[in-house]
Amino acid sequence: MKAAKARTKRLLTRCLAALGLAAVLLSAGCAERPRLFEARLYAMGTWVDIAVFSSADTAARLFEEAEALLRRFEVDYYAWADGELARINRELAAHGEATAEPEMAALLREAQRLTIASERAFDPAVGALVEQWGFHSALTEPAPPPPEAIDAWRRAGASLAAVEIDGVVLRTKVRDLKLDLGAIAKGEAVDRLVALAGRHGVRDALVNAGGDLRVLGRHRGRPWRIGIKDPRAHGVLGVIELENGEAAFTSGDYERFVDRDGRRLHHILDPRTGFPVEATQAVTVIAQSGVVADAAATALFVAGDDWHRIAPQVGAAAVLRVDAAGEIEVTESMRRRIVSAIEDEWDVIAES
Ligand code: AMP
Ligand code: MG
Repeated sequence: MKAAKARTKRLLTRCLAALGLAAVLLSAGCAERPRLFEARLYAMGTWVDIAVFSSADTAARLFEEAEALLRRFEVDYYAWADGELARINRELAAHGEATAEPEMAALLREAQRLTIASERAFDPAVGALVEQWGFHSALTEPAPPPPEAIDAWRRAGASLAAVEIDGVVLRTKVRDLKLDLGAIAKGEAVDRLVALAGRHGVRDALVNAGGDLRVLGRHRGRPWRIGIKDPRAHGVLGVIELENGEAAFTSGDYERFVDRDGRRLHHILDPRTGFPVEATQAVTVIAQSGVVADAAATALFVAGDDWHRIAPQVGAAAVLRVDAAGEIEVTESMRRRIVSAIEDEWDVIAES
C-alpha cells in the first residue's frame, strides 16, 4: 500500500516537472514581441508621458512603479511641499546643518558641481528669492519684490557653493539659505524613470515630462525624434534626433510669467542680480543625462550672451538658443541633430 502511494507520488512529480517544462517552452515559443505601451500622468506640475516597447505585463508593472516613484518624488524634491527638501531647508534655517538621504545628497553634490561650473548662473540656493518674486506657488501672482529685499538677499550670499556637503551631511553659515531644486529635479525624475525602465529590461523608451525628456534605444528602428517648441508661437522650431540614453531639456520664459508694463516677469532668475533674465527666450540642451541637460538649460538661459563660454563648462555640447530678439543660434553638434527646421537661417556657432 505504502509502496503504491510512493510510486503514484513519484509519477505525479515527474508529470508535473514535464508539464512545467512544457509551460516554459510554450511561453518561450510564443514570447510576446515588444509592443508600444503608453501612460500619462500629471506630476511635478506637468504631464509626464512614458512610452515603452515591451510586453503588456512589463508595461503594467513599470507604469505602476513609475507612478509611485513620481508621487514620492514630487513631495520629497519640491521645496514647498511637506517632504525631504522642505525638512532639509527647515533644519538648515534652524541649525545650519541637515542630513540628507543618500540619493538627495548625491543630487545635491552634482547640483553643487554645476553651480560652480556655471559660475552661479544655475544655483539652487535661489529658494528665498523665488518666494519673494512669487514664483513658488501657482496661487500667488508674481510681482517684483521691493529693491531692498533683493539687495538683502544678494548680500546674504545664499549659494549652493556656500554649503559644505560632507557625505550626507550639509552645513552652511549662510542664514535663510533655502534650496529650490526646480531647475534640476525634473532631470533627476526623468533619469530615475529611464533607469526603472532599464531595470525592467526595456530597451526602447521615451520619458517626456512636458517637453523635457530622455530616450532609450530607438523608435521602430530609427532614432527618437522630438520637436523643439517655438517660444513665441504654437508649433515647433524644428525636429531633432536623439541617440540612446540622451536627454533634451528646455528652459523658456514662457513657462511661468506675467507680462507687465511691456516687460516679461518670468520664473528664471539670475542669482547674481536677483532679477528675471531678459536676454533669452529659450535654451534647449542635449546631454547624456536629464540632470545635466536640465541644469545646463537653466544655466545657459541665465548666462545670456555669455552662453558660448559657459556651455563647455557645464558639459553642454548640443545647444539651441533663442535670444531676446527671437534670433536662433545653434552649436555645430546641435545642427547635426536637426532633421527638419522651420527656418534655415539659424546661426551655427563653432564650439570651443
Ligand atoms: P527650469 O525651468 O529648469 O529652467 O527651472 C526653473 C525653476 O528653477 C524656477 O521655477 C525656480 O524654481 C528655479 N530657478 C529659477 N532661477 C534659477 C537659477 N538661476 N538657478 C537654479 N534654479 C533656478
Ligand atoms: Mg532646468
